[in-house]
Amino acid sequence: MTEFIHIKKIHMHFLEMEMLSPFVTSFGRVTKREFIVIEMVDRNGKTGWGECVAFTSPWYTEETQKTCYHMMKEFFIPLLLKTPIEHPDDVSSLFSFAKRNNMAKAALEAAVWDLYAQQTNQSLALALGGTRSQIETGISIGLQPSNNALFKEIEKAINIGYKRVKIKIDRKSDLPLLETIRQRYPDIPLMADANSGYTLTDAEHLLKFDHLNLMMIEQPLGDQDIYEHMHLQSQLETPICLDESIHSLEDAKNAIRLGSCKIINIKSGRVGGLSEAVRIHDYCLKHHIPVWCGGMLESGIGRAHNIALASLPGFSIPGDISASSRYWKEDIIHPEVTTQNGTINVPLDKIGIGYEIDREKLKKFSTSPIQTFTL
Ligand SMILES: [Mg+2]
Repeated sequence: MTEFIHIKKIHMHFLEMEMLSPFVTSFGRVTKREFIVIEMVDRNGKTGWGECVAFTSPWYTEETQKTCYHMMKEFFIPLLLKTPIEHPDDVSSLFSFAKRNNMAKAALEAAVWDLYAQQTNQSLALALGGTRSQIETGISIGLQPSNNALFKEIEKAINIGYKRVKIKIDRKSDLPLLETIRQRYPDIPLMADANSGYTLTDAEHLLKFDHLNLMMIEQPLGDQDIYEHMHLQSQLETPICLDESIHSLEDAKNAIRLGSCKIINIKSGRVGGLSEAVRIHDYCLKHHIPVWCGGMLESGIGRAHNIALASLPGFSIPGDISASSRYWKEDIIHPEVTTQNGTINVPLDKIGIGYEIDREKLKKFSTSPIQTFTL
């Protein structure tokens, strides 16, 4: 007999966590990270956890923590409270009446997945179809004030054992910078994230990246674009990885059918949840497109969901899932996420997300009272 998930209560925790060091992109600096943490209680008293990964301002996608709060409170939570859920995959169709707002949807769906894993007595990783007991991780280094500062960060990453180094690039200093890194570190697995910093008129300039042996260049062109990336990829030897322009399985299909990229970065928040992330993964696996799990400067809860997702077989490229201590002095989960020589153990033998929530820390980082929603 199918057992349904009946959600009785949803608590929202409003957190602000200070980053160990600011994360700088061409759009600005993140020094404090705001989060809404979702605590979802079912009728059996089990608790599932989710995290809203939107930033405070809409520089990465159109969503912010405040737009997510509005969407969850007004539209998604009332629906979830009155609809028994047979399987977490059903949440995306339940929410499909609302256009986009993917990070708001994903925050709630993640907690439903955690409840489902607990109800079926398995780890979230296994519930999602994960097969790896260890995942390899890379590191993403934000823009640095000087080359020396950047070299120091790269050196640190290599010493820790991270399996891949990603740097942010902008039009001002891209090529000389990458060339200098390559001279110093001829063999490190290196990639560059452009965060849509170029246009197709830069194609000739980008062709000069081909001799640098980059693993990939991430999202060189417009954040909505799939078509122009096709033109660029047809000229470029360096694989293009799409990030910002993939919001759904549909987008991934279009990009792959057109040949707009050779790699896809999957973030469950950006695509509206873990179910859609798995659908994209499955399609990519079938079409021999490697994927990796991108990061959104998550707290431990989002990090735990990413670890579970990255245990699926198609995640064959090290992702952005670093140790808790890379970003936080103290994390809100127990144990914290740690890496050993660039790998993270997937808690396959634990039930649910596989980490305990540290309620003391939740309280410590809370900026306003918990809000509770019931029918
Ligand atoms: Mg990116």
